[in-house]
Amino acid sequence: MRLRHKPWAREKIEAHPQYVILQPEEQKGRWKEAFQNDHPIYIEVGTGKGQFVTEMAKAHPDVNFIGIEVYESVMVTALDRLIEAELPNLKLLNVDAENLTDYFEKGEVSRVYLNFSDPWPKKRHAKRRLTYKTFLKRYEDIMPASGEIHFKTDNQGLFEFSLMSFSEYGMLLKFVSLDLHNSDFEGNIMTEYEEKFSAKGQRIYRAEAAFRS
Ligand code: SAM
Repeated sequence: MRLRHKPWAREKIEAHPQYVILQPEEQKGRWKEAFQNDHPIYIEVGTGKGQFVTEMAKAHPDVNFIGIEVYESVMVTALDRLIEAELPNLKLLNVDAENLTDYFEKGEVSRVYLNFSDPWPKKRHAKRRLTYKTFLKRYEDIMPASGEIHFKTDNQGLFEFSLMSFSEYGMLLKFVSLDLHNSDFEGNIMTEYEEKFSAKGQRIYRAEAAFRS
């Protein structure tokens, strides 16, 4: 993703504490209070400009969503969408997913979405992939025993790596599609990257993997 420096982004984020949780460590174990209900919480790690998580929150009002994005200059677009949509069931976090366990207790998150995660194709960068085993451990540490990861990508190499990583971690593969847009999967909500790549004729891969209890 091309990053543009937006000096005003931090100020805008800080002006909307009802949407962007500014001290997420303080929320650990208390997310129900932030949403004022005990609906399940689904997070998207690497939410980018927020199209997917915003549309998911509109489509599923009985689920609470949290979009996590490390770059404030990118997340500010997700914030604009949220300000426009005024959704009570969506919050944003401007943090690095490396530190997820600082923000969530075991069992607090019911599902993790990973959409078009950066592929980091060089072998020496494998540890940065969001499906690398150390990230799987972080997701496992914040989900209940049978928590699920739902993953989409256009990148065949990352998809193959991720299926191996899920499997080697002992996860159960519940759904695998090598061509999502020509499959019978219903209710797909497209991300920005998904729209861009599928318009160019690229196929979309999708998998659901569950931790075993
Ligand atoms: N999910 C969006 C989509 O499908 O359109 C954006 C995809 S973009 C290729 C990946 C995003 O993940 C980028 O915005 C990047 O900054 C974010 N990201 C990568 N590593 C991250 C991390 N460790 N923590 C939080 N966000 C991360």
